[in-house]
Amino acid sequence: MNRVHIKTYGCQMNERDSEAVAAMLRARGYRIVASEDDCDILLLNTCSVRDAAEQKAIGKAAHESSRRRRDPDFVLGILGCMAQNRGAGLLDRLPDVDLIVGTQKFHRVPDYLDNLRAAREAGVPVAEAIVETGVEEGSQNTIRDHMEGPGRQVCAFVSIQQGCDMNCTFCIVPRTRGDERSRPAGDIVLECEELAARGVREVTLLGQIVTSYGRRDQRQGDGASPFVRLLERVHAIPGIERIRFTSPHPRGFRRDLADAYSRLPKLGEHVHLPVQSGSDAVLRAMNRPYSRERYLEIVRMLKGARPAMAFSTDIIVGFPGETDEDFERTRTLCEEVDYDMAYVFKYSVRTGTPAASMPDQVPDEVRESRNQALLEVLRAGSLRRSRALVGTVQEVLVEGPDKTGLRLTGRTRANRAVVFDGPGRLAGELVPVEIAGASVSTLYGALAPAGAGLQTPACPVSL
Ligand code: SF4
Repeated sequence: MNRVHIKTYGCQMNERDSEAVAAMLRARGYRIVASEDDCDILLLNTCSVRDAAEQKAIGKAAHESSRRRRDPDFVLGILGCMAQNRGAGLLDRLPDVDLIVGTQKFHRVPDYLDNLRAAREAGVPVAEAIVETGVEEGSQNTIRDHMEGPGRQVCAFVSIQQGCDMNCTFCIVPRTRGDERSRPAGDIVLECEELAARGVREVTLLGQIVTSYGRRDQRQGDGASPFVRLLERVHAIPGIERIRFTSPHPRGFRRDLADAYSRLPKLGEHVHLPVQSGSDAVLRAMNRPYSRERYLEIVRMLKGARPAMAFSTDIIVGFPGETDEDFERTRTLCEEVDYDMAYVFKYSVRTGTPAASMPDQVPDEVRESRNQALLEVLRAGSLRRSRALVGTVQEVLVEGPDKTGLRLTGRTRANRAVVFDGPGRLAGELVPVEIAGASVSTLYGALAPAGAGLQTPACPVSL
C-alpha cells in the first residue's frame, strides 16, 4: 500500500515542490504512480492565489473523501498553499482528510506517511488528522531533490528562494509562503552542477521574488546584487547552456541585472516582468513600488542590453477602483511594450488581503469585458511577433518529442516553443531551426544546416 500520486494545482513553484516531495518519497521506498486511480495515497498540492483555485482543490478533496470513507487503507492528504492558508479549518468541510501539510513542512511528508501507515498496520486507531502548518527555520533549503525519469531531462526548475516581503495588496502569497528566505548560493550551485552532470541543459531559478534573492542575509554593496552574483556562478557551470528565472519584481531590475544580460550569454532574450497595471494610481493602490514610466525605463534598459529581448508579464484587470482611464493606460502599455505573452487575471477577492476591503470593487461584467479586450490586444501582438520570425533561423534547445510523439519540440532563446522534424537523439542539443510557420504561441520549422546563420531580429518597437 505504498503507491503515491501527487496532483498539483497552480504555479511552477508548486510543480517544483511536488517533484521534490515525490523524490523524497521515492527515496523512502514509496512508488510514484502516474494515475490517481492506481494509488493508495493521494496528495493534493494546492494553490491559493485565487478563490477559484481553492474551490477547485476543495471540490477535488470532497470527491476523494468518499473513496477515503469506502477504503480504510486509502490516505488523502492536502499540501501546499491552501493547507497553509486554511489549516485545520479545512477539516470542517473535509473531515475525512488524513494529512494537512503547509508550505514549510513539505519535507516532513515522508515521516508523516510512514507514521500513519505504521499505525494502521499495527491496528492502532488514528483518531485525528495530522495538521502541520507552522513556520520552520531553514525550510527553504529542503526543496532540492529531483526525480530521475526514464528519458533524458533537458530542463529543470531549481528553487532558490521562498516567501515574499512585498505585501502587494491583492496577494495572499506572503501569508501562504511566509517571509523571504533564500538558500545558500553554494547549495544552489551544487544542485545545478548535479543536474548538468545528469544531462540537464537549462535551469530555471525559481522563487516568489527571485530578484530579492539573498538581500536579507548575504553581503551587499560591491556593485552586483546577490541575485546577479548567483547568476554568474550558475553561468560558469559547464554543461548548463541556458538560464532562466521566475518570478522577478520590477524593483529588482537595476543596472547590474541589465549588465548581466550584456555579459552572460546563457541568459536568453526573454524576461518575465510582472507589471500588474499600466496606471500609476492602480499601482499605488496595489502597493507596487514603481511607476508606469519606471517600468518602461526598465524595458528600454533591457532592450539596450539585448535588442531582441522579448517580454512576458502578469496583469490584473478590474482591481478595486480601476477606472476606464486606468484600464486604457494598461491597454496602451501592452501596445508599447509589445509583449510576447501575458497572463491576464480578472481581480479576485482574497480574504485577508487589504484589497478585499477596498471600496469601489469593480463589477464582474466590467472585469470580464476588460479581460476580453486585453486578451485580444495581446493575442494580436503575439501573433504579429511570431510571424515576424518566419524566415529566420533560431537556436533551439531540443527538449524531446512533441505531444504527438512524431516531431521534436524545443524553445528558442526568447522562450518561444518550436515544433520541427528530427531524430530523438537531438534531445539536449542546441540546433539551428529555420522558421516556416507561426501561430500565436508556437513556431514551426525545419532543421537548418549546421552553421546556418542564426538571426535574432531586432525588436520592432522603439520606445
Ligand atoms: S511581489 Fe509577488 S509574491 Fe510578493 S506580494 Fe507582490 S505579487 Fe505577491
